[in-house]
Amino acid sequence: MKPNCDQMASTLISVTEAKKNILDNVTTIDGQEKLAIRQTLNRILDTDIKSTINVPPYDNSAMDGYAVSSIDLPEKDETELKIIGTSFAGRPFEGKMKPGETIRIMTGAVIPDGADTIIMQEHVQTTDRSIRISCGHNKGDHVRRIGEDMKIGDIVLKKGKLITPSELGLFASLGIVEVQVKRKCRVAFFSTGDELKSVGEPLEEGQIYDSNRYTLYGMLQRLNIELIDMGVIADDRDAVREAFKTASNIADAVITSGGVSVGEADYVKDTLEEMGKVNFWRVAMKPGKPLAIGKINNAAFFGVPGNPVSAMATFYQFVQPALQKMMGMNERFKLNIKVPCMTPLRKRPGRLEYQRGILSYTDNGEMIVNSTGVQGSHILTSMSLANCFIILPAENENVSSGDLVEVQPFDGLI
Ligand code: AMP
Ligand code: MG
Repeated sequence: MKPNCDQMASTLISVTEAKKNILDNVTTIDGQEKLAIRQTLNRILDTDIKSTINVPPYDNSAMDGYAVSSIDLPEKDETELKIIGTSFAGRPFEGKMKPGETIRIMTGAVIPDGADTIIMQEHVQTTDRSIRISCGHNKGDHVRRIGEDMKIGDIVLKKGKLITPSELGLFASLGIVEVQVKRKCRVAFFSTGDELKSVGEPLEEGQIYDSNRYTLYGMLQRLNIELIDMGVIADDRDAVREAFKTASNIADAVITSGGVSVGEADYVKDTLEEMGKVNFWRVAMKPGKPLAIGKINNAAFFGVPGNPVSAMATFYQFVQPALQKMMGMNERFKLNIKVPCMTPLRKRPGRLEYQRGILSYTDNGEMIVNSTGVQGSHILTSMSLANCFIILPAENENVSSGDLVEVQPFDGLI
């Protein structure tokens, strides 16, 4: 194999090293607040949650049917039991059942004294006053036990948990009104580039619209971050210095796009070196090789590349996990799967690639992935068309149709 430029460039560090370096260099922010449970959606729990009640709080029926005592269950043939009342959800049967008796019971209703088993109504023959049940039922069938979900004293949620709809319901099940969460992480972000215009302004010769501030807005908003949009900053050393100063004074993290290459108007890395600390700036990945990571004052600094796809790919792979650590969020399971790739892919060894892919099912129900097409780092439509990244390890060469590739889906149910 002939070495190429990427392999010879000694300044490139691997994606794995970069991820580790970034995570090791950020710390969780201080500060918390107490919020009504609905307000905690997409926030990070800042305390363990201990159950102070049993859920369910009493043994109850999982079915509409009849509550019986297991001593009445026939070993063979049938048995007849007398109906002596009804237990509704929220309106329990007050009396006590004796052997030979049964009560009609609804889903969620309290199991009456003397009963320990539920027979589904579909499995009994009823007359006005009695039921006939056959053999084949077991003690404890269709009974939900007290505390089966959460027991008094259980730690049911750990500090650092991202609060999703399940946790809102869980708080409510425990009767919790307010919860302590981490304060929101504050992020200041701006684009750099003399060619950039904001939407609403006419474009002149040689200008383009600033799209990165919008993709960044979206990605940050989804993380439930407090945003400070500082607009477009010109390719001017003083302007960049000034913006760094302001941003690092007001935010926990600063994110910039553009100006991280080695072009003559790329001031981001130099200014970061001058005013703060640069951890590294070139990663063996595609898209997104130039990346300035570091610190200014107390703010974490993430300088993502200007190319729109590079900006998004580096954000998702590096900046998002770092922000999540800063927000105090515990690591979550990440779904990466191997599927056959039906489009041949071009790949030179040297850099790890995040190509854009579309996962789908064949008529036979098998999952496959296809390329979105042209993979340039300026093709933002590729991100919009894609529903996953196709991850091609650094050493890999071309992919042939049918080869297994690793994919990272964009969406997950939470
Ligand atoms: P840079 O990283 O500044 O060298 O920019 C690399 C490429 O991305 C250039 O073609 C820029 O015009 C483009 N670019 C930089 N910033 C943005 C932005 N905010 N929105 C869209 N394209 C951008
Ligand atoms: Mg630029």
